Amino acid sequence: MNPKFEELMQHVEKMQALGAAMTLFGWDAETGAPADSMEMTSRIVGSLSSQYFEAMVNEEVRTLLMELKSAEDLDEIQAAIVRDMVKNLEDMEKIPPEEYREFSELQAKSTTVWTKAKQNNDFASFVPTLEQIIAYTKKFAGYSRKDGQSLYDSMLNDYEETFVQDVLDPFFAGLKEKIVPLLKQVVAKNDQIDKSPLQQSFDVDKQRELNHWLAEYVGFDFNRGILAESEHPFTTGLHNHDVRITSHYYEDAMESAIFSTIHEAGHAIYEMNVADDLTLTPVGGGASCGMHESQSRFMENMIGRSYEFWDPIYAKVQEMFPEQLGQVSLEHFHKMINKVEPGLIRTESDELTYCLHVLIRYEIEKEMIDGELAVEDLPSIWNEKYEAYLGVKPESDTMGVLQDIHWSQGSIGYFPSYALGNAFAAQIYHTMEQELDIQGALRNGQLPIITNWLKEKIHRHGMIKKSRQLLKEITGEDFNPQYYIDYLTDKFTEIYGL
Ligand code: ZN
Repeated sequence: MNPKFEELMQHVEKMQALGAAMTLFGWDAETGAPADSMEMTSRIVGSLSSQYFEAMVNEEVRTLLMELKSAEDLDEIQAAIVRDMVKNLEDMEKIPPEEYREFSELQAKSTTVWTKAKQNNDFASFVPTLEQIIAYTKKFAGYSRKDGQSLYDSMLNDYEETFVQDVLDPFFAGLKEKIVPLLKQVVAKNDQIDKSPLQQSFDVDKQRELNHWLAEYVGFDFNRGILAESEHPFTTGLHNHDVRITSHYYEDAMESAIFSTIHEAGHAIYEMNVADDLTLTPVGGGASCGMHESQSRFMENMIGRSYEFWDPIYAKVQEMFPEQLGQVSLEHFHKMINKVEPGLIRTESDELTYCLHVLIRYEIEKEMIDGELAVEDLPSIWNEKYEAYLGVKPESDTMGVLQDIHWSQGSIGYFPSYALGNAFAAQIYHTMEQELDIQGALRNGQLPIITNWLKEKIHRHGMIKKSRQLLKEITGEDFNPQYYIDYLTDKFTEIYGL
C-alpha cells in the first residue's frame, strides 16, 4: 500500500472514531437521554466536534492529500477516499475562517429563532435572520461556483452533483403538467375510499410488536441494528454493523408508524449493505441524499404500499387487530393505505402529492436565490402556490412557510433531492422489473430477492460512485423522470378507477 495513504488512514481512523462518538450522542439525545442532561452533555459534544474538525483540517492531512491527489498506485476505493477528502478540504478552504465561524454562530441561533417564530405563527420575527442566512449561503455559493454557474446551481450541485436547473426545470415542469391535473381527478373521486377503519384506536404495544416484525420482514437485521422511538422518525448509524432507526406510534393512526418504519428500514438496509472495506471510511455512506431517499421511498411506496406486499402478511395484521380489521378486506386495506389527501404539511403527505410540495419549494428557492423574490414576500407566494397546485390554503404560516427547518439551517437547494429520490426509485423499479419477478417475490414473501438485487447494484458501492453514474450503470440510461410520472399515473389511475 502507498505509505502516504497508510499515513492518511491513521488520521481517517481518528476522524471516524470522533464522528461515531458524536453520532452516538446525537442518537442518545433523540431517543433516551434524560431531559436535564443537554447542557452538560453539549460541552462534551462541543469538545468532540472541535477535535473532529482539527483531525480533518490540519497541515499534515493537507500535505498528505496534496501528494496523494496525483498518486497513480491507488486502488478504486483509495482513490475515492482521497477525492472525497480533497473536495471537502478545498470547499472548506474557500470560505474565510472568520466568515465560517460567523455563519456557524448564526446557524446555531437561527434554529431557535425559527422554532419560536413557528410556535407563535410569527413569520415577521424570522425575516431578519432568514435574510442573513440567505446572504451567507449566497456568499459561500459565490466562492465555490464554477465560471458562469448561477448561485442556485452551485447550491444544488452541493446536494446532488450535476442535478442543477437544466435537469430540474424539465423534471418539475413535467410533474406540474401531469400530476396537478391527475390530482384534481383523484380528489373528485375521493369519497369512494372510506378510511375510517384505520382511524380507530390501535393498542400501541401491539403496534410496536407489528413494526418490529415488519422491519425484520423487509430485511432489517436486528443483530446489526435497533428500532427505537422518537418524535420524528430517522435513521443513523456508526457503521454497517450498527444501524439504528426510529418510528413514532399514534394510537389513532396505525399506518403512520408502519410506513415510517418501512421507510427508515429502507435507509437502514442501504447502510447495512455497504461493503465492509468501505464502511469505516469517508466514502462509507450512501451515494447521495437523493439516492438514499430513493431506497427508503422504494421500500415504503413501491414495495410497502403494493397489494402484493400485503398479500402474504395481511392475515397476520388482522389477527393482531381483529376488532379493527377483522372484517376489512385486503382490497379495502390496500386502498386505504394509498388514499390521496392533499394537505399542507410535506412530511405528512401521501405518495401522489409529495412531489408537489417539493415543486413549490424549488420554484420559491429559485426566485429567492437567482431572482428578485424578497424574504418578506415568502408567505404570500407560498400560499398562492399551495392553492394553485394542491387546492389547499394555509391558514397560518406555522402550517405554511414556517413548517420546515431546512432554511433556518442554511440548507437551500436540499429539497429537490427528496423529489429526485422518488424519481430515481421509479427508474430503478422499471429496470428491476425487467430482471426480476417483483410481484411474484412479494406474493411469496421473498423480500431478499429484491433487497439482494439492490445490494448488488447500489448498496455495496457506498459513495464510490456518484448518484448519476450509478443510476446510469444500473438502468442503462441517464436520469429519465418519465418513469416516475408514468408510475404515479398508472398507479393512481388504477386505484381510483379513472
Ligand atoms: Zn428518508
